[in-house]
Amino acid sequence: MGQIVTLDQNMVNMIAAGEVVERPASVVKELMENSIDAGATKITVSIEDGGRRLISVADNGCGMDADDLASAFESHTTSKIKRSCDLRGISTLGFRGEALASIASVAQIKAVSKTKDSPGANCIEIDCGDKGSVSPCSADCGTTVQVRDIFYKLPARRKFLKTANTEMGHITEHFTRIALANSNLDMILHHNGRELYQLSGKQDVRQRIAELFSPEISENLIATESNEKGLHIFALLGRPDISRTNNKFQYVFLNGRFIRDKFISHAIREAYRGSLEPNRFPVVFLFIQMPYEDYDVNVHPTKIEVRFYNTNLLHSQILGCLREKLLGTKLETEARFPAAMDSDRLNRGQKIADAMAEFFKKYRPIQTQQQLSSASKKHFAAPRFSAGQIIESQAGPQLQREFLQIHDSFIVAEADDGFIIIDQHALHERIIYENLSRRIRTGKLESQKLLIPESFQLTDAQADALKANAELIERLGIELAPFGPKTYAIHAFPTILAKAEPLDFAHDLIDLLTDKSAGLDAERLLDEVLNMAACKAAIKAGQKLSDSEIKQLLADRERAECSSHCPHGRPTTIKFSAVELEKQFKRT
Ligand code: ADP
Ligand code: MG
Repeated sequence: MGQIVTLDQNMVNMIAAGEVVERPASVVKELMENSIDAGATKITVSIEDGGRRLISVADNGCGMDADDLASAFESHTTSKIKRSCDLRGISTLGFRGEALASIASVAQIKAVSKTKDSPGANCIEIDCGDKGSVSPCSADCGTTVQVRDIFYKLPARRKFLKTANTEMGHITEHFTRIALANSNLDMILHHNGRELYQLSGKQDVRQRIAELFSPEISENLIATESNEKGLHIFALLGRPDISRTNNKFQYVFLNGRFIRDKFISHAIREAYRGSLEPNRFPVVFLFIQMPYEDYDVNVHPTKIEVRFYNTNLLHSQILGCLREKLLGTKLETEARFPAAMDSDRLNRGQKIADAMAEFFKKYRPIQTQQQLSSASKKHFAAPRFSAGQIIESQAGPQLQREFLQIHDSFIVAEADDGFIIIDQHALHERIIYENLSRRIRTGKLESQKLLIPESFQLTDAQADALKANAELIERLGIELAPFGPKTYAIHAFPTILAKAEPLDFAHDLIDLLTDKSAGLDAERLLDEVLNMAACKAAIKAGQKLSDSEIKQLLADRERAECSSHCPHGRPTTIKFSAVELEKQFKRT
């Protein structure tokens, strides 16, 4: 007797449920997607006990007649595809015909539905695959599916459910994704009778983001759009100061479907390179529209992953669109002040604000070095200030800008609508980095012969790394030659890095090449080298600058492509807007 048997249909459904119905949130997602496919304009989701007791999704979509209601919960039943050719170019969220059957195999279901043409509504109940008959009832057009006591006959799976709060967190996440992709729908989410969200379909996506997350996030998004080769991209890009420690805040939608894709994440990361520190992740909402035939959704049971037929085009277009916008936008970090204070702290805040207002009344305007030093001497133990003015020549009246260097590290300068504090090292690093990148892309860096060659010793591995990267070293304008056993000498060094010590630079370069040259492509390696070079050649913190040096720095800042962040992504500038200052000093 053979051992192999054919499983009965309910077993098949229960196994399928293992893939599709991971937890209550998966049920919420599948039911909401069915509502959207049914053309609903309003969806109400009601949850009890994190979805363990009840998940109910009600919509005003096209509804089902009695026959469809009877077959919807059978496995492999769908109205969305008919032939194999339909799999190429799926425009609906669902198509597998598995969700309702899977859900009905692991919970108690009650579904009520009415089409607009039928005189009455119908309902059906199913208890873990045990299906009752369809019977008439009264209800409005649309469909309501209630799912009770999920996994109650599968104690092993029920045991794995987390606390109501955790499960509700997952449900809210799915609700959020669907709400972002469908800002034209009225959407409501209740938990244990309490309303968590009531979103109006008249909102635009920014208002929706403000309600789903916070007004702060919504206000710090930069919009950009591109439309080429049948690919439409709309993105809301978070400013670097609202970045996160993980990539949860990257919402990518493909024709209304939330997806995760490593190529798209890579394009986003590349677009922000240099505007964010490496361990930070940007907040991004990316909406991609492309022909349904250009990708395959039939690769993952929950369809969170898809397969693109032309990944390179997608990657380069996203990267281009996002990067162009980010480079063209001033991304200065805004100084943050506490938004709301309780009355105690408010009083204290008020006192500080008053004292500061008084101070500035007395010691304003700071115009000359002498005046500033005499004023500052009274208040600071060790005054280390340098102050000056920069005259910007512009069409029309000349604009006078004041600035001062504090603690030999930061430059405070007036801006059109407030003032900025600049980290002199970080800004100079960015300026040198951009300069280096520009020059090296058009040829090799100009170099200068050293009067006396500087020699250093190497291990064999280091010598190999140097040989392997000879071309890169030459492009940098560094002339190296063997100088005895295990010894090399630097004969020429790039002029632009005049401030760096050749030997010190060579050591760091060799370390970097030995560590990284194997793992990085040529472009990234060059970028790392330029980063390192810029850091070495830049003005240091603690270095006193003359007025003309500061003027030069501020003028270079105006010309830089991305002056707001250093090449490692740390901010170079913090801005204090006049509006915020007035608010803090209680002038408004
Ligand atoms: P799929 O969505 O992959 O087709 P489902 O099991 O989710 O499979 O649903 C089966 C069918 O039931 C759908 O194809 C659709 O015709 C019908 N259906 C499900 N939910 C709804 C709804 N809310 N309104 C109208 N029809 C629905
Ligand atoms: Mg479905």
